Amino acid sequence: MGATAIFKCKMCGFETDELSLGPGFAVFLETFICQDCHHIMEKPINDDWQILEGYEECDRCRKNNLIKWDYTCPNCGDFMKLEPVGMWD
Ligand SMILES: [Zn+2]
Ligand SMILES: [Zn+2]
Repeated sequence: MGATAIFKCKMCGFETDELSLGPGFAVFLETFICQDCHHIMEKPINDDWQILEGYEECDRCRKNNLIKWDYTCPNCGDFMKLEPVGMWD
């Protein structure tokens, strides 16, 4: 079981899509940010914290330029606040 949540920036109002976090039934998900279009998304990772093969592309721009997201706002750089939405499994 994991949780679904969005992240909100108090400073500028930016919000992520709904993200699935933590351990799921078969995969472990981590949040990544695209260095090209600044889209934030979850990706399944392996034990070495690498994105699983075939999932390396950005969901939005399809470039292969993702880094682990540090929970800062892509607009203003402030820390974003987690807001729980629900659960997934
Ligand atoms: Zn912001
Ligand atoms: Zn992108």
